Amino acid sequence: MKKSVYEMVTEKVMEQLEKGVVPWRKPWINGGAVNWKTQKPYRGINTFLLEAGEYATFKQIQEAGGKVKKGEKSHIVVFWKWLEKEDEESGKIEKIPYLRYYRVFEINSQVDGLESKRKELSFDHDPIGKAEEIYKGFMNAPDYTFHSGRAVYYPGIDQINCPPLKDFPKAEEYYSTLFHEMIHSTGHKSRLARPGVTTNNVAFGDEVYSKEELVAEMGAAMLCGVAGIDNSTIENSASYIHSWLRSLKEDHRLVVQAAAQAQKAADYILGTEEADEE
Ligand SMILES: [Zn+2]
Repeated sequence: MKKSVYEMVTEKVMEQLEKGVVPWRKPWINGGAVNWKTQKPYRGINTFLLEAGEYATFKQIQEAGGKVKKGEKSHIVVFWKWLEKEDEESGKIEKIPYLRYYRVFEINSQVDGLESKRKELSFDHDPIGKAEEIYKGFMNAPDYTFHSGRAVYYPGIDQINCPPLKDFPKAEEYYSTLFHEMIHSTGHKSRLARPGVTTNNVAFGDEVYSKEELVAEMGAAMLCGVAGIDNSTIENSASYIHSWLRSLKEDHRLVVQAAAQAQKAADYILGTEEADEE
């Protein structure tokens, strides 16, 4: 049976989420998915559907003299179209939205003969001293890479990738993002061994996963507090936490547990855990 657009979208979204990409929290700008021709970033649901890259349709690629590599599979981009329907009784025109899609390929990895048009923005920030101290003071830390486009912690290889400072319009957002991933890394089996990190194949949306996200975000907010970073990121964190709370059915017991774990994780990074246990 042919899949509906909705099924295709849902499938892709779940794939992304299972990879640990949380699309409603992206305070950096470079390295996302853009339209190759216009260099405009994709928005809304399409940010779930496409990984970082520059995308063009088969026709655009052909017209520009490129060639899709053999065996490459297309990605889908969706958009709303408005269908006009006349109400039989009132004669009024009703506009009904319906979802359409088209297919695209990523020109750097899937196409021969086309060149990247990327012009990346860069923000000039001074590092925030106290926040840098926290980052550098994390003993037994994971490995770090700083490539554009994705904030993620990989428990398997114990490695964090955080977009670089220059990709964030606000320096505070960089540290809040980095701290979020650092908190995740404290769940590694060699550190505090939290189930949300040590459990394999945790499905998005289940309790273990949601709780780990809460721990990471609350822990990051705590570290931001220690670093004296202004409240705007904490407000963002709050709304982010709220979206998780809804998925946890506002279970306050879980929130209290997650807060305790977040405190432990923040203490671990700050090296204050022993002092607290005495
Ligand atoms: Zn996270």
